[in-house]
Amino acid sequence: MALIVKKFGGTSVGSVERIEAVADKIIASRSNGDDIVVVVSAMSGETNRLIALAEKIQEQPSPRELDVLVSTGEQVTVALLAMALHKRGCGARSFTGSQVRILTDSAHTRARIQEIDSQRIKDELDQGHVVVVAGFQGVDGDGNITTLGRGGSDTSAVALAAALDADECQIYTDVKGVYTTDPRVVEDARLLRTITFEEMLELASLGAKVLQIRSVEFAGKYKVPLRVLSSFEDDPGTLITLEDNTEMEAPIISGIAFTRDEAKVTVSGVPDVPGVAYQVLGPVSDAGIEVDVIVQNVSADGTTDITFTVKRQDSEQTRKLVTAVAQQVGARDVSVDNRIAKVSLVGVGMRSHAGIASQMFKTLADESINIQIITTSEIKISVVIEEKYLELAVRSLHSAFGLGEETALAG
Ligand code: ASP
Ligand code: MG
Repeated sequence: MALIVKKFGGTSVGSVERIEAVADKIIASRSNGDDIVVVVSAMSGETNRLIALAEKIQEQPSPRELDVLVSTGEQVTVALLAMALHKRGCGARSFTGSQVRILTDSAHTRARIQEIDSQRIKDELDQGHVVVVAGFQGVDGDGNITTLGRGGSDTSAVALAAALDADECQIYTDVKGVYTTDPRVVEDARLLRTITFEEMLELASLGAKVLQIRSVEFAGKYKVPLRVLSSFEDDPGTLITLEDNTEMEAPIISGIAFTRDEAKVTVSGVPDVPGVAYQVLGPVSDAGIEVDVIVQNVSADGTTDITFTVKRQDSEQTRKLVTAVAQQVGARDVSVDNRIAKVSLVGVGMRSHAGIASQMFKTLADESINIQIITTSEIKISVVIEEKYLELAVRSLHSAFGLGEETALAG
């Protein structure tokens, strides 16, 4: 007998009919005697609807009150799901985050889980109940309702699985699992049966939005086996695992991630003296702007160029901040390019295989795609290219590295 935590996202509980379908699914999976803890999100669109209501009253509502408001979305779905289980003769009890005691810090709207009291849930399971817990929410030490940030139910589920020492945490969603790349861009993108936590973290942080990044970090840290699967299909989906060195045939490349929402900022002709990188980037980070890729080249004539990327929505503010600094330090020019995209190859197999980077660059060269920036980590190679070539780049890399259905079957 196993203990499984199952999390159902907003689309999976988007209507009463779907909630009833989730209840059927839970009952089917209980037939082998497993204990089940369920975590649910709010009905799809509900969190946005609640936030919009708040913003009609106040542009910047109090974060504490926002948490009181948005946490109601999940309170609705836990109760409805418990009812749907009762209707099917299954013992079930719903709980809010504060009832379970998912203790968090007090950072409203982006709280972090500190501790979970698993005893209450264990007692309910011992009585044969399915335990249904509201995702996304917790309570701070003073009894205030908190929420974990958008998409936070994934993190609730993983944290509960860790606290309960569950055998698996299953995240049910509206896609079949994790793919080699976005199937909307590459038709023969292949569903991955397994992927390591490290790879999943890279893919998630690079824009593959299947899981909240924090939930993957959490699962890796606490070694919770995590599975992503579809609510609407009968398929085992993708299992996210710890790296397994014994696996001989591990693929070199697991996936290709990409983002279009970045902008490239270049400050050229910066005097090459100690402290300039800090002078240029300090004000950007002080403004709370997230900087991604950073490159600085060698200096030939006593000056250097610093190039970095930021979220596209931050590019105008960044331009202003950096232009001011450029004048102070006597840099030659600041330019901002919003028409860029970043494409990344991700795979733990890169560690033991040379030549992946050059194969990537050759593939792009064969398509006459110019590479503007290259960065690498142990399990990732990223390039920044002109946005209009993004789809071509992803497709040609996907086929060059044999990631598709066809190639995989043939090989
Ligand atoms: N309902 C919350 C949101 O929309 C939490 C979640 O869905 O995971 O962000
Ligand atoms: Mg979600």
